[in-house]
Amino acid sequence: MTDYLRQARDLDAADPLAGFRDRFVIADDHLVYLDGNSLGRLPVSTRDRLHRAIDEWGTDLIQGWERWITLSREVGDVLATGVLDVSPGEVLLSDSTSVNLYKLAAAACDARPGRRVIVTDDDNFPTDRYVLEGLADARGMELRVLKTDIDLGISTATVREALDGDVALVALSHVAYRSGAVADMMAISDAARGAGALMLWDLCHSAGAVRVPLRASGADLAVGCTYKHLNAGPGAPAFLYVRSDLQAALRQPIWGWFGQRNQFDMGVAYDPVESVERFQVGTPPVLGGYAVLEGARLTAEAGIGRVAEKGAALGAYAIALADAWLAPHGIRLASPRDSARRGGHVTLYHPRAWQISQALRAAGVVPDFRTPDRLRLGLAPLYTRFQDVYAGLAALREVMETEAHLRFPERHSRVT
Ligand SMILES: *Cc1c(COP(=O)(O)O)cnc(C)c1O
Repeated sequence: MTDYLRQARDLDAADPLAGFRDRFVIADDHLVYLDGNSLGRLPVSTRDRLHRAIDEWGTDLIQGWERWITLSREVGDVLATGVLDVSPGEVLLSDSTSVNLYKLAAAACDARPGRRVIVTDDDNFPTDRYVLEGLADARGMELRVLKTDIDLGISTATVREALDGDVALVALSHVAYRSGAVADMMAISDAARGAGALMLWDLCHSAGAVRVPLRASGADLAVGCTYKHLNAGPGAPAFLYVRSDLQAALRQPIWGWFGQRNQFDMGVAYDPVESVERFQVGTPPVLGGYAVLEGARLTAEAGIGRVAEKGAALGAYAIALADAWLAPHGIRLASPRDSARRGGHVTLYHPRAWQISQALRAAGVVPDFRTPDRLRLGLAPLYTRFQDVYAGLAALREVMETEAHLRFPERHSRVT
C-alpha cells in the first residue's frame, strides 16, 4: 500500500462524518462522483419523503395546502438556523437563484433612489452577470464590472476602489463557481456599507459547503441554490436571505399573491406582508420544497462547521496528490492553495482539460469541466471519502501517463 493510500484510509477511519455516506443513495459504489457541487446526490430520506408527499397529494388533495402553504417558510427556517447561521424568519425558499437575484437586486436599487451604479465582477456566474446587466439596462443604470483573477478570486481592494456615492448595489459570489475562491465577505460587506450601498451575496457554492458569515458581516441580502451542496435534486427551488431589519423597507418588483397580506381575502390592491414572505411570488413548488427540507436537515445534523472542516481537509489532500502526481504532467492548481480561502471544490488547469474530463468519465470518475480548460473536482463532505479522492486522482494520473485523453474529441458537448 502506498503512503497516500494509507493516509486516505487513516483519514476516513478518523472522519466524524463518515457515517453520513450511508444516508445517501449510492447506486454504483465503484463510481467516483466528484460533481456534487453541480448536482448533489440523492439522500435516502428525500426519496422516502417524496414518495410520501406524492401519496399525500393523492389522499389529501386540496386539503394538503393546509400544510403546504407554510412549507417555504419552514424550510427557510431550517436553512437559516442549520446552514446559514442566521435567524428564523430571515430566509425563504422560492423560485430559482436567477429569479431571486433579480427580485432582490431590483428591490435594492429601488431602496437607493438617485444612485445609478451596480457593481459586480467579470468572474461572477453568468446568470448573475446577465440578470444584473438586464436590470441595469432596463433602468438606465451602469453595470460596473470589476476585473477578477479567475483562479484566485475577487480582491477586496478592487471592490473598495470601485465604490463611490453613486453605487446602489454590490452583487458578488461568496465562493467562486470556477476556482472555489472565497471572497472576504466581512471586509467587502463593510466597504459596501461604508459607501452607502446594499450588499447582495450569491451563496450557490457556499450553502452546505462552508461557513457563511452573513450575520457577522452584517450583509444585507443573499440568494443561493439547493441542488448543489444541499442535495435537494435537479431544479429544486432556491432560497433568499433578507436581513430582518430591512424586510419591511424593501419592496420586490414582482407583486404576486403569495406576498400579499391576508392572501385569501383576494384584496383589490397589493399590500405585502411585512415578513420575509413578501419576497414570495406565486404558488411554491411543494415537492421540491420537501426535497430541500430533507437536504437541509442532513447538513444541519452533520453541522456546517464539521462539513466545512472536512471539505478543507479533502481539498488539501487532493492538492497534495495533484502536486505529487499531476504537476509533472503539466496540470497545475487553479484554486487558492490556502484552505481558508477555498470552498468545497478544487480546480485544476490543463490545456486539454476537456479531453481529460471525458477520459476520466470513461474510467468511472465524474469530474466537472469548466471553460477555459479547467477540471473542477467537487469534494462534497457528506458522502465523499478520502479514498474516493485517492481513486479519482489515481485515475487522472493513469489518464495522463497513458495519454488516454488524446482519443477523445476536442470539441465540447452542449452541456458541460
Ligand atoms: C449554480 C449557480 C447559479 C444557478 O442559478 P439558477 O437560477 O439555479 O440556474 C447561480 N449563481 C451561481 C454562483 C451558481 O453557482
